[in-house]
Amino acid sequence: MPAPRLSFDPFRARRRATRVVMVGSVGVGGDHPIRIQSMTNTNTLDTDATVRQAARLAEAGCEIVRITAPSIRDAENLREIKRALAARGVSVPLVADIHFTPNAAMIAAEIVEKVRINPGNYADKKRFEVREYDDAEYAEELERVAARFRPLVLRCKQNGVAMRIGTNHGSLSDRVMNRFGDTPQGMVESALEFLDVCEAEGFFDVVFSMKSSNTQVAIAAYRLLAARLEERAPGEPSYPFHVGVTEAGDAEDGRIKSAIGIGALLEDGIGDTIRVSLTEDPVREVPVAREIARIAGTKTGAWPRDPVAAPAPDSPRREPIEAGEPLVLCAPPFPDPFAHTRRPTRTQSLAAPAVGLTVGGDAPVRVELDRPGALIRPAETAAQLAVELAGLRDIACESLLVTAANTGAVGDREGEASTGRVDPLGRVAQLGAELASLGLSLPISLRIEAAAPGESGDVVAAVLDGLARGTAPTLGRLVARVDGDTPMASLRSIAEAAMRSETPIEWELAVDPGAIPDLLRRALEATAIAKQAAGKDDEVRPMLSLAPGASPQAVRVLVSALADADAGAAPAPVVLRGAVTRAGERGVQGVSEPALLEAAVRLGSSLCDGIGDLVSLEAAGPAGPVVDLAYRILQGARLRTTRTEYISCPSCGRTLFDLEETTARIKARTDHLSGVKIAVMGCIVNGPGEMADADFGYVGSGVGQVTLYVGKQIVERAVPEAEAPDRLVELIKQNGRWVDA
Ligand code: SF4
Repeated sequence: MPAPRLSFDPFRARRRATRVVMVGSVGVGGDHPIRIQSMTNTNTLDTDATVRQAARLAEAGCEIVRITAPSIRDAENLREIKRALAARGVSVPLVADIHFTPNAAMIAAEIVEKVRINPGNYADKKRFEVREYDDAEYAEELERVAARFRPLVLRCKQNGVAMRIGTNHGSLSDRVMNRFGDTPQGMVESALEFLDVCEAEGFFDVVFSMKSSNTQVAIAAYRLLAARLEERAPGEPSYPFHVGVTEAGDAEDGRIKSAIGIGALLEDGIGDTIRVSLTEDPVREVPVAREIARIAGTKTGAWPRDPVAAPAPDSPRREPIEAGEPLVLCAPPFPDPFAHTRRPTRTQSLAAPAVGLTVGGDAPVRVELDRPGALIRPAETAAQLAVELAGLRDIACESLLVTAANTGAVGDREGEASTGRVDPLGRVAQLGAELASLGLSLPISLRIEAAAPGESGDVVAAVLDGLARGTAPTLGRLVARVDGDTPMASLRSIAEAAMRSETPIEWELAVDPGAIPDLLRRALEATAIAKQAAGKDDEVRPMLSLAPGASPQAVRVLVSALADADAGAAPAPVVLRGAVTRAGERGVQGVSEPALLEAAVRLGSSLCDGIGDLVSLEAAGPAGPVVDLAYRILQGARLRTTRTEYISCPSCGRTLFDLEETTARIKARTDHLSGVKIAVMGCIVNGPGEMADADFGYVGSGVGQVTLYVGKQIVERAVPEAEAPDRLVELIKQNGRWVDA
């Protein structure tokens, strides 16, 4: 099969053109805003509880409510639920969620506004059988499935009911799994087989989803589906997408994973309705989904611009999205948009007084704290920051970035007192000494404003002078901010000073996407001239970054322009910057929820593109929550595992225990197991398939009973719920994955 062509512009945020599918009175796709939806987790036969929860969801801003219909009785009760909601004046459209029960789907299509089917289990076998299907057997099986599916298509068409063809990673049919594997391609082919039946019957009110708990897989699958649909009908508005990350878990990690996967796709212009799946009260999903849609969808026009929700003046800077001349870039911005691959780069060493740090190449994506005010009040800030960083050893801040600024009082350091001037290098040395006294050796990098406007010129001159004379302390690297006004002479003197002192250099470019190629060209030219003047070899090359708040599109512009400019040379590592604390905002562990979601959307999108060798988060407040957030984002993007990963379903009417409470109990016992993936799933019907690549599974299999898995293998059945957490811990020990807390 030929490689698919990208169906979106990687350099500009534009919404994918789709037809409109009406779900009752709610339009999905076209020019409609991104619709927010969620799902009840009550027993569908409990009409009162389901109606109450659906009404709460609608009140919170949920525009479409899904309810599971595991049996014919459940499907029939949707009529009662609908009636009771109408009696309360709630007109939110309902979706019936169907797995394995075509008969229930046929009933639901008489009652609700939309039916969701899973192609992996609508009428296909799902027994994890490994066998070869030859072409004739495959076609025969497919025709059997189509024959079961066709009546539902005809009923939906006749009743004006929409349909979601919702494929999930890990829940493909045996037929598809054996031919394509549990891959994005398998997910896409599985959905398209069902679309063939719909189109053959002239039914087009179809919405697609391609969910996975693995953000990289979800992004690849949605992009691949968009490309395949574009191939089927080039230039025509396509089908809308329902976007989500399934089994995302709860709390910060559930929010971060959702923001990465959903946000990355919305940034690509892909997504018309979204659901955030949290193992919490579903009502709490709604504000999270709204915020992700606002962050990532506003640029594409898929989320209404709301002046009240405009960024606060002190929030991360945003570049004008449509700014600049048309971009002419030759190199693709990512290695492979349909399968996560990390962008290959050369390795750069950042110096530290004792042990340095490698960035890029085979090194994991590194974590840096960017503390802009750390040099302002030298005495107490240096000591305070050192103590704070020393207290973080479990989650190791690997690198520290401080900014040379001409603000604050002149310190009591000998040099400053006598000259009456700020001595940034002296302050860095003091910070290094404070850290060393606590046994910490990490690279301290120093940022300067390349343009050196006004009084800051003194500070920049002092830094460059110290570097040139060899009196500077060991710097991790010199970071120079560059914008359109920076004179070439400044760039050259910075590059020369860095080279003479053998200090690695990073050019931090201003964020206007239209200007990035030119800024980059000037920075590289200045580096090349300085290299020649200093008689250095070709290996002296800069790192690159954009100022905090850069969009994923701007980062792609940088990477593509870099590849154009760097043709043939080993690619430079790229630093991803974010600013996470806004004045006066504190929330989850010190970082507010909007700030956490924004960092996850922006950094996660680039990381899932395979771009980024160092994540540098700017924060004026406590270091711990910010460093912790950087590691959580790396784990959410599946790039660096530093803690236990939980894959827990959001629960629904099939759930056989209190999922939130059970997940909390299991977390309390296991959350120190770095790198272990544990699935907590509410039912045996879907749980085993959808727990995807978990190492251990805890799956409800009957009232008060749990089945335990190692990988996809059942190892213990019908374990009483009270004993199950202990048995799970035993299993982890038996499999050599346990360490004591
Ligand atoms: S795995 Fe969880 S959310 Fe999915 S069907 Fe089962 S109980 Fe419902």
